[in-house]
Amino acid sequence: MIVLKFGGSSVATPERIQSIVEILRTYQQRSEPFTVVFSAFGGATDFLIAMSQRAARGDDGYLDAYHSFCDRHNEAIKILLNAQNQPSALAALQENHESLHDLLHGIRLLGEASARTMDCVLSFGERNAAYIIAAVLTQNGIAAAYLDARKVVKTDKNFGAAKVNFDETYKNIKEYYQSKTSEIQIVTGFIAATWEGDITTTLGRGGSDYTAAIFAAGLDAKAIEIWTDVDGVLTADPRKVKKAFTIPTMTFAEAMEMSHFGAKVIYPPTLQPALAKNIPLYIKNTFNPNFAGTYISHQKNPSNHAVQGISSISHIALFTLQGSGLFGVPGIAGRLFSSLAQAAVNIILITQGSSEHSITFAVQPSEAESARQAVAQAFEWELQSGIIEPLIIENEMCVLAIIGENMRNRPGVSGCLFQALGNNGINIGAVAQGSSELNISVVVSRTDESKALNAIHQAFFLSDTKELNLYIMGVGLIGGTLLAQIEKQAIFLKEKRALEIKIIGLANSRKMIFDENGMDISDWKEKLAASDEISNPHAFVQKMKSLNLPNAIFVDNTASDDVSNLYTQILDASISISTPNKIATSSAYLQYEQLKRTAEHRGVKFYYETNVGAGLPVISTLNDLINSGDQILKIEGILSGSLSFIFNSFKENTKFSDILLRAKELGLTEPDPRIDLNGIDVRRKIVILARETGLAMEPSDVKIQNILPPNCQNAETVADFYTEIEKSNDYFEQLRANAAADGKVLRMVAMLDGEQASIGLQAVASDHPFFMLNGSDNMIVFTTDRYKERPLVIRGPGAGAEVTAAGIFAEIITIGK
Ligand code: ADP
Ligand code: ASP
Ligand code: MG
Repeated sequence: MIVLKFGGSSVATPERIQSIVEILRTYQQRSEPFTVVFSAFGGATDFLIAMSQRAARGDDGYLDAYHSFCDRHNEAIKILLNAQNQPSALAALQENHESLHDLLHGIRLLGEASARTMDCVLSFGERNAAYIIAAVLTQNGIAAAYLDARKVVKTDKNFGAAKVNFDETYKNIKEYYQSKTSEIQIVTGFIAATWEGDITTTLGRGGSDYTAAIFAAGLDAKAIEIWTDVDGVLTADPRKVKKAFTIPTMTFAEAMEMSHFGAKVIYPPTLQPALAKNIPLYIKNTFNPNFAGTYISHQKNPSNHAVQGISSISHIALFTLQGSGLFGVPGIAGRLFSSLAQAAVNIILITQGSSEHSITFAVQPSEAESARQAVAQAFEWELQSGIIEPLIIENEMCVLAIIGENMRNRPGVSGCLFQALGNNGINIGAVAQGSSELNISVVVSRTDESKALNAIHQAFFLSDTKELNLYIMGVGLIGGTLLAQIEKQAIFLKEKRALEIKIIGLANSRKMIFDENGMDISDWKEKLAASDEISNPHAFVQKMKSLNLPNAIFVDNTASDDVSNLYTQILDASISISTPNKIATSSAYLQYEQLKRTAEHRGVKFYYETNVGAGLPVISTLNDLINSGDQILKIEGILSGSLSFIFNSFKENTKFSDILLRAKELGLTEPDPRIDLNGIDVRRKIVILARETGLAMEPSDVKIQNILPPNCQNAETVADFYTEIEKSNDYFEQLRANAAADGKVLRMVAMLDGEQASIGLQAVASDHPFFMLNGSDNMIVFTTDRYKERPLVIRGPGAGAEVTAAGIFAEIITIGK
């Protein structure tokens, strides 16, 4: 004998029922007898509950709902049964519907629906469904009989979640099936009746699974098959973790832990009768019938995975009782838990540290108030005398559990769990691990549930590929180039570096778009243009926070302080930052310091290598030198592409004004070239380098030598400035010629010498690395304890979209590691 069970989603529509007929046809062809349990049509139970609540409220709209309930079932008959079979089926349902109508009328008159009445109302969902399906099967040549489980499954009067009397139930089932050999019994799931008085009861929401196990145990079946709408028990709830996959085999104990911890795919009590009689379960997908699904038995999964699955209870209330009155006093825990038991409060999780200073436990939110009262009463004296502190209650919490028999005696599992949470800035409220080591549970804030599940899932199951969730603000030249580089490199990174970069959010100054599953970026321009979300940095940050995705990185390609002012908030939300925007790192020292501290506190990265020398490894080299114990004596830098070009080109028989115009034509200068020439941009860069060496430098600490003669300084407009520069060619030529007389060339150098930063024009001799510089290259020269004789030199293009984007891209990958 095999017992099959089809859930609500498998019988939600007439087409679905038709496909079940095809599945059962294959069973009919085998020699093994079988029986089938059915749930109500998908959504029918919820619908009946809502309908009764309306009637109880005196809302006559319940009648419309009632009619649509009847219509849904009559309609199924009309679609699935032929003209000959319809009348008897419609008549049978008519009887059900009349009883339901009367019941609802009673609820309407009384203005209330007791648990007992509700069980009777709900029974019509399963009764209608099983009746219709039995008729459909018979019409299709599979001789089937309708079995109302209330005839055989007997329970106590605990309406809503009745306890089964197994002895009586098994006896009834055996007797019933002995007399019915020719037809396949089609059983109503979920419903039962009291052994005294035959009053309708139900086995708890989701209870049809349980019905199947009860029948299987009563019939000493070979197997139970639970047919549902997913490919078996998955590594996590697929609604919360998109990358969850099927667990092929698991033990009863593991399945029990998963279901108790919220995996709705199996109703928890189901496993008891199966385990007691050692009947294996298969969890199969009606929508994918040829897929093997999950096999649950005593057999352990041969795979070496430490963790089999991850589950969560989305909402719990966490209580903490603490105070000196708990220390070393025997019987406290006993009093606490018996007070909760007396108040009929079920405890989901308990922890007590060995300091005995506090006991923490979790309960269902609906039981939180009873729990509070029970504890307040039990410890009234201690609370009044102050040796126990007022109870701490945290209402908006959830519990996550990692489950698996292979965790036993395996070091490092908790470490991996805590690291995954820590790396994503998720705070742990409480931890519990039973000595069976089958389950490690952590309590976290409800708002972190999905992020935590995904981060843990990633850590345990997808450790071979890591997923990064990227948000890019500013998609102009640099941002656009970055997107193109990511698109081009995606396959390589996935295949060779096990890194998957998902673009979750994009914004320019006008529009923004988000896709929490990651967007196809081949047409990002069109997508962004078509978006109706108006761009706004605050809204962008809010959205990142509310999505709360693990391994999140924010890239700021703007030059805006509206964006950089939000960095603290972003880091505080455990989102790493990579940016070429220099404002945050080069403005007030306090801001720079706070950002560094926030990043460290949250365990995320704040990277800005492209602030100095674009893609050149300037900041990282400096940090490597410092971290490895070198002493920085001097940093000299040509840190501006435009100034580099101007002075590298200023040779004998050239005019300074011509070179400036040429730089402008090449797009190397700012629209107002004075911004380059007065050293403001270079100042930001030397300030950042000074700060990296540990100096609390402010921009005003940098000494800037003004290289422009007074007439140029006083020019009012850009055009005037160019005129004045032309008049000053002799002045610049004089400077050049003086240097040349000593065999030197002019260079605009930013320098950190000891603790003093300065920017100015220097004449450098032929033995200096700057002497040979040409084009618009940047050059940074580190003179250190180790690099004293011949300094360490970094040279290369210090501007340009390709190299800057590449620098950001490299940071993203470093963060990903
Ligand atoms: P049925 O109507 O067949 O009884 P349920 O809705 O009760 O189906 O249970 C199946 C659902 O359980 C799935 O659609 C899935 O959303 C949810 N679920 C939660 N956790 C898990 C898990 N770990 N594996 C599979 N499904 C899960
Ligand atoms: N129909 C019932 C419910 O929705 C039982 C079940 O689906 O298993 O809870
Ligand atoms: Mg179910």
